[in-house]
Amino acid sequence: AAMETSSVSIGARRPPGIVRQIRREERRRDVRSVTRIRASGSKAEEYVVSDRTKRLLEGCCKIGPSETEGKPQAGGAGGGTTLEALRRVDGVWRSIRNMPEGDAAGPAPVFVTESSVRLDTNRCDYDVAVCGGTLGILVATALQARGQRVVVIERGPLRGRDQEWNISRPELESLVALGVLTQAQCDEVITKEFNPIRCGFYDGESGAPSGDASAIEPAIVTKDILNTGVKPSLLLDAIRGNFEAKGGVVLEKTAISGISVRPDGAELDTSPLDGGDGPGGITARLVVDCMGFASPIVRQARWGQKPDGVCLVVGACARGFDESANESADLIYTTTDITAIDQSKGQYFWEAFPAGSGPEDRTTYMFTYIDAHPSRPSLADLLDDYWDLMPKYQGLDSIDDVELLRVLFGYFPTYRDSPLPARWDRITQIGDASGMQSPLSFGGLAALLRHLPRLTDAMEDALLSDLLDRDCLAAMNQYQPALSASWLFQKCMSVSPGTSPPDGFINKLMRINFGVMSSLGDEVMRPFLQDVVKFGSLGKTLVTMTTREPMFVPQILIQAGPGPIVDWFRHFIALGAYDLAAGIAESPIAAPVCRALMGTAPSRELIEKARNGEAARSEADFAWDFAVLDKRQKFMLRRKVEAWKWGSGRDYDDQHA
Ligand SMILES: Cc1cc2nc3c(=O)[nH]c(=O)nc-3n(C[C@H](O)[C@H](O)[C@H](O)COP(=O)(O)OP(=O)(O)OC[C@H]3O[C@@H](n4cnc5c(N)ncnc54)[C@H](O)[C@@H]3O)c2cc1C
Repeated sequence: AAMETSSVSIGARRPPGIVRQIRREERRRDVRSVTRIRASGSKAEEYVVSDRTKRLLEGCCKIGPSETEGKPQAGGAGGGTTLEALRRVDGVWRSIRNMPEGDAAGPAPVFVTESSVRLDTNRCDYDVAVCGGTLGILVATALQARGQRVVVIERGPLRGRDQEWNISRPELESLVALGVLTQAQCDEVITKEFNPIRCGFYDGESGAPSGDASAIEPAIVTKDILNTGVKPSLLLDAIRGNFEAKGGVVLEKTAISGISVRPDGAELDTSPLDGGDGPGGITARLVVDCMGFASPIVRQARWGQKPDGVCLVVGACARGFDESANESADLIYTTTDITAIDQSKGQYFWEAFPAGSGPEDRTTYMFTYIDAHPSRPSLADLLDDYWDLMPKYQGLDSIDDVELLRVLFGYFPTYRDSPLPARWDRITQIGDASGMQSPLSFGGLAALLRHLPRLTDAMEDALLSDLLDRDCLAAMNQYQPALSASWLFQKCMSVSPGTSPPDGFINKLMRINFGVMSSLGDEVMRPFLQDVVKFGSLGKTLVTMTTREPMFVPQILIQAGPGPIVDWFRHFIALGAYDLAAGIAESPIAAPVCRALMGTAPSRELIEKARNGEAARSEADFAWDFAVLDKRQKFMLRRKVEAWKWGSGRDYDDQHA
């Protein structure tokens, strides 16, 4: 799991006053001494968890019975508990920092094998096996709504985690059109809507005190962006209900331990865990890997490859904030300059929003972008800073003034060659496993909702056209210049080892960038805040930044380095080319030609219509087919046209029309 949470109840508990008093007494006893643990891993080092972190994590779980007490924890990004979870996640993060690269890593652990021996079956058990049930259940339900026979296999319980996902309402409502959720269910899973949404950056030169957000003028104040709080457990429960009601199969507490890819299907080795309900093996025509960052399939595909960037995040949902000031959210905020973090340097960013569990409850995340150099800090190091900085950021005297309901910590890896290119026939990645989410926000749900209509069409097309080889699957997850261009932004927001930019450099960059976007208006700013990078908007922003701050641009180039800048420029040009191609493909003259070349993708709906004698409509649907390309070429062209549109961010215009 890339992300863990220490969770406790928001129900029965001691009165906040008593909790605060106990906490204050404990704090007085708190010693700044640390517990030193000899870490395991390829490179021995000291792993330090401060007594304060231990006390707060342990206390967090003592305040009341967990909302999930008696129920097994959900897995994946965000599942888990307490100090043990912190040690475990830090252990994985340490092993990533110290991992051998390339040939030095030795042979990859084998999870996927390929064989030319056909499956001994007339028909696979399922059309699609979705591995991993967090975002996997969304994908499964969308495919099932298209008439596919789908199974979801989840190692843990399929129940969502105790945290909140923030998205924009139209993104969530896109599930209605896909038949995944009803409008009424959409309204039910929303636990909170809040406004306004702010972005702001500390300016040390202004004389403002560091640490306190109230002293920092926001660079942007907007509304209705990522302002909808969704509870994963409610969302997943509702979708699962819809999936099972229509005959979908969920196998919980069932781990997949290997996949054999054959010419006519894939065979999944499944082992029921701890009372789980899976059979010993399952066959499916297509395997959808939704097993997150830690997917064993991705591990094999990326063996020996260190992430190019990492976002470390720690945070908490806490009770006891001033209710009258708990309506707005910060999308991204800084309250300090670049600071020392253990042996490294980095810039801390903040996100904060009201939680749906109560009017005094607020979630605050502190995150930093770094690389996976061995000297980088642990999550325990970040938590130590969080206990000090969060109260200042939120105008509290001390961390003991609020009641911790949940503590969260995790790492999000980024690879520059994302989304992950398909490695095998019959296996495709979706969700965090695919690397399709923005390297800046890591909003995996938001990214999936944006791409799900396209991916559902593409997977249905691949299944009905029987085009499930590696090249066809790679065409579904192909290069997206907008995603690749975003990678440089992450790099500019981090401090590379051996470099020492001025302490205020990243804040200045952010202030200029967000100030320019704000002045260019909603058309530029709103897509960017929702992880959509568009050629025109980016171009305008860069030109305006250069004219307004000509002396600062060379500093950006020096800080990023010539290699990444050249690389980024390539993606920027590609973004322009994709935008042009998508514009032409959608133009009144070219669109019919394009459609006639691509033909109409097969779908169960069309097949049913034809079967039911609705020939007239079916013919109309299938009309305009020049029939100059074969089935495979048409499939590839359909994927290319989608790649132009989604890769250039033009899909945003449809969703937000
Ligand atoms: C604290 C936090 C806050 C976040 N906030 C937001 C937000 O506001 N908006 C947003 O869009 N995103 C947010 N995200 C990101 C979002 O949670 C992730 O993008 C999302 O959970 C990814 O889902 P996934 O299904 O791809 O992977 P995961 O959540 O990692 O789930 C993978 C699943 O696969 C299962 N699995 C793994 N191995 C096996 C196996 N061998 N066999 C069977 N099953 C297996 C795991 O048990 C797990 O359930 C947040 C993440 C965190 C941690």
